[in-house]
Amino acid sequence: MTNKMLKFVKLNQETPNKRDTKERKTDFNEIYGEFIKDKAKEQSSRCSQCGVPFCQIHCPLQNNIPDWLKLTAEGRLKEAYEISQSTNNMPEVCGRICPQDRLCEGNCVIEQSGHGTVTIGSIEKYITDTAWEKGWIKPIKVKKESKQSIGIVGAGPAGMACAEELRKSGYQVTIYDRYDRPGGLLIYGIPNFKLEKHVVERRTKLLKESGIKFVQNFEVGKNKTLYELKKKHDAILIATGVYKAREIDIPGHNLKNIFPAMDFLTASNRKGLGDKVELFDNGTLNAEGKDVVVIGGGDTAMDCVRTSVRQKAKSVKCLYRRDRENMPGSAREVGNAIEEGVEFVWLTSPKSFIGDTHIKAVEVNKMKLGDPDLSGRRRPEIEKGSEYKIPADLVIKSLGFDPENIPKLFNAKELDISKWGTIKIDLKTMQTNLDGVFAAGDIVRGASLVVWAIRDGRDAAVQIDKYLRMKQINKKSEAAA
Ligand SMILES: Cc1cc2nc3c(=O)[nH]c(=O)nc-3n(C[C@H](O)[C@H](O)[C@H](O)COP(=O)(O)OP(=O)(O)OC[C@H]3O[C@@H](n4cnc5c(N)ncnc54)[C@H](O)[C@@H]3O)c2cc1C
Ligand code: SF4
Repeated sequence: MTNKMLKFVKLNQETPNKRDTKERKTDFNEIYGEFIKDKAKEQSSRCSQCGVPFCQIHCPLQNNIPDWLKLTAEGRLKEAYEISQSTNNMPEVCGRICPQDRLCEGNCVIEQSGHGTVTIGSIEKYITDTAWEKGWIKPIKVKKESKQSIGIVGAGPAGMACAEELRKSGYQVTIYDRYDRPGGLLIYGIPNFKLEKHVVERRTKLLKESGIKFVQNFEVGKNKTLYELKKKHDAILIATGVYKAREIDIPGHNLKNIFPAMDFLTASNRKGLGDKVELFDNGTLNAEGKDVVVIGGGDTAMDCVRTSVRQKAKSVKCLYRRDRENMPGSAREVGNAIEEGVEFVWLTSPKSFIGDTHIKAVEVNKMKLGDPDLSGRRRPEIEKGSEYKIPADLVIKSLGFDPENIPKLFNAKELDISKWGTIKIDLKTMQTNLDGVFAAGDIVRGASLVVWAIRDGRDAAVQIDKYLRMKQINKKSEAAA
């Protein structure tokens, strides 16, 4: 057995929550690599097939987990794959990046009884990676083509899942996206060490081979308005995600080398994809040898600190104004970052950025937790006279994302939005207030998860199908009258 294989055997002898920290440091890769067949069988057979499948209930796609675990335990992988893909358009993606500790695995009865969860995510990944390897995953063969067409704005997981489902029903589907590559945050947000880009690219290729058209470098609002697009198609889905980074308005915020998280992560992902990235190549967006300070405590902040470590930063600090227990990000991600050498500076908030032209240090205030606010979380309060400076030559702001002003951008002022700027939909029909215009994913929910975007995309496809069938019936009865 090779050293690499030995490493995987060891890795897979433990549940994800208990994996050896030393393995992570040396391997430096979030992804399990090959989940060995025997291990998949062994793990699957740990499922007690309990009467109430809490794992399934807590999976946003209601994946039929007990059934595909049973089939995997029996070595019937192809059947396991068929069941797994019937509710999920990207099982290998979810298997890699779902926060399973908060979803399926966190609710596994075996986990609850203190014996360590069945590693559902890694088995899901294993089943689908095997399906790709064996050639079981094939482009859609449409039985009967429909003339009706749908324009989807946004090639992220919500748009792609919706497109696939509609194409299965024979519709003509075109996806428009302002980036040069499809995938949305799967390509330019989530780092390669969590989700390898070829995994996303083979999905896109499959959709193209299934007859779905992709129009890249096409920004709705700039290249065409929503209404122009609406004239071209029988229905529209808006799945544009949320991209407006929240700002920190403190003295020194205009200094050089202070960047929003997405600039940093996109540069790193583009580099990984082989692009020429001037700001990375000239060192500006490269953490190597630098004192990096990341501000924020969510999952995106964790991706930034962990990417900085991989880029060989001199030091990486994460500032968060509450304590560890109150961090919004996944506890597992925080644990991973600590293992990799990231220093968390809890209960700390930036007061000003210091430097002449470029950032040199972040002046911070120490915080204490006061009474709960409206959200029920304890409000952070400044401890007077607690200021001190943290050296920094690269600052990454990761305070979350808000929706862009879609009605303005799309030149569609009538489009209804919520007070948070997310698009309002009828929760049953997924339709906006504009006839034939639907919306799904982060642009409806606010920043969320890939698995929810897939769920929304699938639900939207069902509703768009109903809408188009009704449109067809009305057209026929009008013609007959
Ligand atoms: C750094 C980071 C890490 C994350 N890690 C995880 C994780 O580990 N696990 C997890 O489950 N979730 C994670 N998420 C969240 C997850 O990526 C999102 O919830 C999910 O991608 C939302 O899918 P979506 O299809 O709604 O939008 P997106 O994936 O954002 O896709 C939207 C697409 O719309 C396009 N678009 C926007 N405006 C226009 C326009 N005007 N015209 C044309 N195209 C347009 C964009 O270019 C983009 O391709 C992460 C998010 C970030 C930012
Ligand atoms: S999609 Fe996510 S939550 Fe559902 S079974 Fe897979 S890993 Fe678990």
